Parts: sequence; structure tokens; C-alpha cells
Amino acid sequence: MSLVIVGSVAFDTIETPSCRKERIVGGSCTFCALAASYFVRPGIVAVVGEDFPKATIDFFKKRKIDLRGLKVMPGEKTFHWQGRYGEDPNQRTTICTDLNCFENFRPEIPAAYREADILLLANIDPDLQERVQEQVRKPKLTAMDTILLWINTKREALLKVLKKVDVFFANDEEIRMITGERNLIKAAQHVLRLGPKVLVLKKGEHGVLVFGKDLQFGVVAFPTETVVDPTGAGDTFAGGFLGYLDKVGRITPTEIRRAAVYGSVMASFTIEDFGIGRYLTLTGRDVRSRFAAFKRLAAF
Ligand code: AMP
Repeated sequence: MSLVIVGSVAFDTIETPSCRKERIVGGSCTFCALAASYFVRPGIVAVVGEDFPKATIDFFKKRKIDLRGLKVMPGEKTFHWQGRYGEDPNQRTTICTDLNCFENFRPEIPAAYREADILLLANIDPDLQERVQEQVRKPKLTAMDTILLWINTKREALLKVLKKVDVFFANDEEIRMITGERNLIKAAQHVLRLGPKVLVLKKGEHGVLVFGKDLQFGVVAFPTETVVDPTGAGDTFAGGFLGYLDKVGRITPTEIRRAAVYGSVMASFTIEDFGIGRYLTLTGRDVRSRFAAFKRLAAF
């Protein structure tokens, strides 16, 4: 087992200015794993209720996602999140979060996952992230994502996890809240003193900036007229980024740059449809051809 991902597998209700989708499949772990599955066979650690569709489980299997760490809780309902986007797709409001089966979830890592090379702690309660972090023996790389909710409500637990990660995925608002710094470059440098060696600063439709020791790199987001639903863009960025690093097996500044482009490629597909819709037809050839388009876009 090389890449292991812990996070949420969810139902999402999404409202955009033109459309509303009720209880479609989403979740941080779902998006990360689907994106990573174009590079490697990721293993997931997550929980769902009895109501989670078998067709989606079959789709995960078809994408060769290892489901030994997916727990189905009898008599319970799947985690549900509802979000609303305004005219600006970078602005999102959480309307409700129903923890359901997450309430009593205590992640246990299957023995086969304990030797993972890369561990992705996707967005969930930092206490659960820590529990998983403790169970994986010596990953070559641990990465973490989070949201404002945890920065505001579980700051101490979050900082504890952050201290032991190598790569941190976050947006402007999140690093400002963590560090108290308005200036983004100062905030990024501050984050690098809290533990991570690399910070991937997600800037929505403006792309990402990667900061590390002797490393600063920027990737624009793929210019597109089709922004249907931004949900999962950040997660699929992380899945593509780590899936690629896992596949090449080298964590060098050059590979980190390429990984950031693959992350952007996967995020650019995600927003073209609601939820995981685009992944139902996305091929490896599509991924390679958009990577080539990114290369042309950035060549000078
Ligand atoms: P992203 O758009 O990449 O930030 O991720 C969106 C996904 O995060 C959605 O599919 C949600 O199901 C999931 N999500 C939202 N809030 C939470 C939460 N509190 N814990 C775990 N997952 C969440």
C-alpha cells in the first residue's frame, strides 16, 4: 500500500446561483481518492452509513480504490454537508453539517495500510487525523488539508497534527486565521515554522502558490468557461498532487512542481460537473492531454 487517504465520504447538497443538487456523493476522501486513482491505487480510511449507494462503492472499485479501510456502519446515516456558492465561485457558505455516522467514528487502520509511503489527512476533525497519523508507521510524506471550522473550533488539535506533517494544503483565509498575519508571504513563512516543509496555498480560480525551503512555484488554474460546481477542487488538487508523487516515487523540487501541475489538472476537471460527475467519464488520456495543455499555457 503506497498512498493512504483519510477523510470524509459524504452526501453533499450543493446550491449554486443557477442550480441545486440534493444529496449527491461527495466528501474530502472521495474527491482525493478519485483524483489519485489516475496515478496509483490509493487506500481509503473512512466511514459511511447504510444509506450509501452500492453503485458508488462499485464505481470506487472500478477505479481500483482499495476499500479495506471503508467502514459501513449498520443503522447509521452517511455524513451530510450542505454548501451554497454565490456569484463568485470562490465564496462558499456552509449551510449545515450533519455528522451522522462520523459522530462515533474511531478510525482503525487496516494492517496493510500501516506501511504507507504517503499519508493524506484530508479534511476531517483533527482529532481523527491525529489518530490515523499515530497508526501509520513511518510514511515518507504526510500531507494535511483542513477548513476554517477546525481552525476556529479545534485549534490546539490542529496545530498538533500540523507540527508533524510535511505538506499542508490551505487557502489565504485559512493561513491568515492560523497565523494572525495579513500579509500572505509572511503568513506562508510563519506556517513553514509550524511544522510543514511545503505549503500549497490554494487560490481558487487564480491557481496555487507552492512555498518551501528554496522553493517558490506558481501554477495558474486552467482557464475555463465551464465552472459548474467548485466543490472538491481543493481535494482533487491534493489527490492529483500526491498521486503523482507516489507514482514517481521521488520527492524533489522538480517533482513537486510537476505534482502541482497534475493537482491543477485534476481540479480543473472536477469543477466541470456537479460532485464527482466528471469522474464518471474522465480518462487517463484526458488527464495527459490537459497536462500538455498546461505546459503550452505556461511556456515562454
Ligand atoms: P473542497 O471543496 O475541496 O474544500 O471539499 C469539499 C468536500 O468537503 C465536500 O464534498 C464535503 O462533503 C466535505 N466537507 C465539508 N465539510 C466537512 C467537514 N466538516 N468534515 C469533513 N468533510 C467535510
